[in-house]
Parts: sequence; structure tokens; C-alpha cells
Amino acid sequence: MRLILVGPPGAGKGTQAARLVEKHGIPQLSTGDMLRAAVAAQTPVGLQAKEVMNAGGLVSDEIVVGIIHDRIAEDDARKGFILDGFPRTIAQAEALDKMLDDSNQKVDAVIELRVDQTKLVDRIIKRAEDAKAAGQPVRKDDDPEVFKQRLEAYNRDTAIVVPYYEKANLLSVIDGMQSIDEVTASIESALQGLDEQV
Ligand code: AMP
Repeated sequence: MRLILVGPPGAGKGTQAARLVEKHGIPQLSTGDMLRAAVAAQTPVGLQAKEVMNAGGLVSDEIVVGIIHDRIAEDDARKGFILDGFPRTIAQAEALDKMLDDSNQKVDAVIELRVDQTKLVDRIIKRAEDAKAAGQPVRKDDDPEVFKQRLEAYNRDTAIVVPYYEKANLLSVIDGMQSIDEVTASIESALQGLDEQV
């Protein structure tokens, strides 16, 4: 099963992706996690991406498409994957279609986590507090001001990806304001039958 999770930052994509990994035994491919690892390792990609990420902007399509291209060719992604945070622009969505098509694969489902954006800043402040309390590092871009930039980038560049997949008849919209368990249950019911098909 090849699945895409779409939604603004803080909508719960990472949390739900982790649950999908457990249930379906396919990897979560988070471009945000991969880019953060590249920044930490100070690779050439990391050095290029760092400032844009810290400002809440989008890393170039060329860089992220390259990362995903290499990642989906790895062995563990052969049976399927959950894309979290990619595609974030129409150019990325088109590049994904092309690279899957080249290897006779396709996107099976797209889940949009739809949330009340006025509540997201509170959610992100809580995420930073929870991480701090657990002794985990707090993401630099979870600073409320940077977060607002990320939300703007979502509305400006990424929201348009939703109608792209709606037109392709792949979209399920889930109410992301439900409890975490309820969101998981809604996603599972939207995906019912897909495991067998692919
Ligand atoms: P995330 O963890 O998905 O919220 O991503 C964190 C940051 O990484 C974003 O704010 C962007 O700067 C960058 N990023 C992650 N995925 C992408 C992508 N598909 N396209 C462009 N930038 C991305």
C-alpha cells in the first residue's frame, strides 16, 4: 500500500504515520525527519536546507524529490510506504507520479487530516512543552513565530495538493480534530480493503 498523509503542520501526520507503520508493516517516509537528519549530519543537503527550515519555508523541490526518489528505491519500501510531509507542492506531486509510474507503481490512497487552523498554534506550543518535559529536544521550527510561517507555506503552496488528489479520486478527508484514537479509526476505515488489493 502506498499512502500519502496530507495536512498542515501540527495536524497529527507524524503520530498517525507511526501507528500506520505498526499496523501495516510498511515504513514511514518523512521528508522532515530525513532533512533534520541531514542538517544534524551537516551533509551538503543539510547545509542547504538548514536556513530555509529554520525560517519555516519550503526546501527546494529538487532536493526533496531527490531524497524521496532514492528512499523509495530501498528494499523496505518495495511493499509500500507512508509518505508524511511529501508531496508539499504540485511539482512534487507530479514528480512522485512520474517516479512511481516509471517502476509500475502508483499512489493507492491520500488521507487529508483536516483541522481547525486557529487551534494549531496551541497544539504546537503543547508539542514543544511535552517534548521538553520528556527530556527530548524541541524542534527549532516549533517556535510559534516560525510555526506561523510553516502554516502560511502550507496554505500558499501545499493546500493545492489536496484537489490534485481529489481529481485523481484518491482522497479521503478525515476530521483531524477528533481524539488521536478516533483519527486512527477513521483512517483505518478509509483504508479498508487496500492491504489486500496491493
Ligand atoms: P515537517 O517535519 O514535515 O513539518 O517538515 C519540517 C520542515 O522541513 C518544513 O517546514 C520544510 O522546511 C522542510 N520540508 C519537509 N518536507 C518538505 C517537502 N516535501 N518540501 C519542502 N520542504 C520540506
